[in-house]
Amino acid sequence: MPGMPGDALTVSELVRLAAARLEASGSGSPRLDAELLLGQALGTDRIGVLAHAGAPVGTGALEVFEALLVRRERGEPVAYIRGFREFHGLAFGTDARALIPRPETELLVDAALAEVVRRLTTAPRPPGTPALRVADVGTGTGAIAVSLIVGLRRRKMDEAALVIAVDSSEDALQLARENAVGHGVADRIVFVAADLFPHHVEPTYALVCANLPYVPTAELEQLAPELAFEPRQALDGGPDGLDVVRRLLERLPEALAPDGIALLEIGADQGEAIVREVSARLPGWRCTVAPDLAGRARLARIERHA
Ligand code: GLN
Repeated sequence: MPGMPGDALTVSELVRLAAARLEASGSGSPRLDAELLLGQALGTDRIGVLAHAGAPVGTGALEVFEALLVRRERGEPVAYIRGFREFHGLAFGTDARALIPRPETELLVDAALAEVVRRLTTAPRPPGTPALRVADVGTGTGAIAVSLIVGLRRRKMDEAALVIAVDSSEDALQLARENAVGHGVADRIVFVAADLFPHHVEPTYALVCANLPYVPTAELEQLAPELAFEPRQALDGGPDGLDVVRRLLERLPEALAPDGIALLEIGADQGEAIVREVSARLPGWRCTVAPDLAGRARLARIERHA
């Protein structure tokens, strides 16, 4: 590692030096990044790094670490360098084929899970009742679809539900399939390449989940440089960020079951706009907005009947 005297450095000394470099290169979380990447180089996790602060790091691991650090200094997201990201208590494979799952999207998964569990437990389901259908529109890594089925499986309810995971990117769908197979839930998810929904769709969905691109185009330029590594079509929502969301709203009447609901992730300043869009496009429907843990508007819940 240039600028670092080699073999005698300990884990904690390396973390400190690397964090200083990453801070200088513009990382917003230099220490965390350094710990995660050193863990990767050492074949351990962050706990291993913290627990063995005084251990000397050998030259082999040091070389690997240096290569990872250089990638991070160039702005590549930690999740792409490590190849995975934790989401909803699970590890998801991540690479440039899809958006990295964000913690705020866990809110959507929790709401979706609560909704499906409620529907499966309140009405009797005699044998032969068709599976409850959920759409995950713009599935990306498959984080929502997979977390939902894993959550249902823990409650022994996964057999009663089926997720249709849709993405316009074949590459993203392939990554989502890999994640579904990795978590053993590919049997409860159908993957479909389409723009929002297939051309022909029936109003059979009890639940439509969507984390669509919602960042206004002009804002994309000002955001962290990491975003340049992620697929632009997963982030860019047009002039006000809501172009794709509006197109989805137009198609909800075709896709949602009469008592179905849609859960849409939105940007912190889009709470009022989404309520306006729903009342303009879906007269008589209801839209309510729930905040995330930081208290910012994040989740829109849309249903047919007010
Ligand atoms: N929350 C994401 C971000 O700001 C945006 C994700 C999206 O457009 N769906 O990076």
